[in-house]
Amino acid sequence: MPELPEVETIRRDLQGEVVGRKIKSVEVRNGRTVRRHPSAKHFRARLEGHTIKSIDRAGKYLLLGLEDGQTLVVHLGMSGQLQRAKSAKETKAPHTHAVITFTQGGQLRFVDPRTFGEMFVSAAPEDGPALPELAHLGFDPLEDVMSWEKFWVLLSAHRSGLKALLMDQEFVAGIGNMYADEILFAAGLRYDRLSNSLSSQEVRRLYRAMVETLAEAVKRRGSSLADEQYRDLFGEVGDYQDQHQAYDREGQACRRCRATIVKVKSGGRSTYFCDHCQV
Ligand SMILES: [Zn+2]
Repeated sequence: MPELPEVETIRRDLQGEVVGRKIKSVEVRNGRTVRRHPSAKHFRARLEGHTIKSIDRAGKYLLLGLEDGQTLVVHLGMSGQLQRAKSAKETKAPHTHAVITFTQGGQLRFVDPRTFGEMFVSAAPEDGPALPELAHLGFDPLEDVMSWEKFWVLLSAHRSGLKALLMDQEFVAGIGNMYADEILFAAGLRYDRLSNSLSSQEVRRLYRAMVETLAEAVKRRGSSLADEQYRDLFGEVGDYQDQHQAYDREGQACRRCRATIVKVKSGGRSTYFCDHCQV
């Protein structure tokens, strides 16, 4: 599932590729992708003729700002991809559910085998709150820089397992199962340590691990796992999976202490960690 580093990689790619382009036509090939709209026609009418002015990110959501104040919101869900086609003639990947054609400069395509992703157009902000998911997002670990003391205050306000808290989008936006495991490994902290039990040194380690892990993953253009469901705008896989220390490494040696990485299941999710160097 794409998390902050993957979505941020796509945001940066989109910035160079689609800003300034005018939308000529929109084709919806699977209505589930635009399920928040009453019809595919309604979705199309909101976009056609408009120009993309900006690309922002809120947590795992991509926000494509239009010149009239509307926002095209894209959520990749479990398996969604945005793909750039230089020409309409390029062969469409299987599961291409929506196609945006620009007046000049090819297409932007939404591909999503598992169809948990979606696209929708949110009205101009003055029309009211866009959507509750965005209104309640927590701080952004890369954009909203804060002191470790402030982070300590936020952590201490909860009495929750660290992994659950890192994955709570209302606490911090953009972290999912994979990066939560990597961040906690880098911090040397267990998934089930209570957020209000950390020493000042541990808080500093956790904050640094969160920022550095995510920044490094963005630098390496995200993680593509064996299913290769994450691809960038140009169809390329990321590089960060080779740096993973804990995630998906059950039974392998910890790269820090040589103990064996273990996997536990809780709440339907797998957690990978080193029982020796994470306390
Ligand atoms: Zn270890």
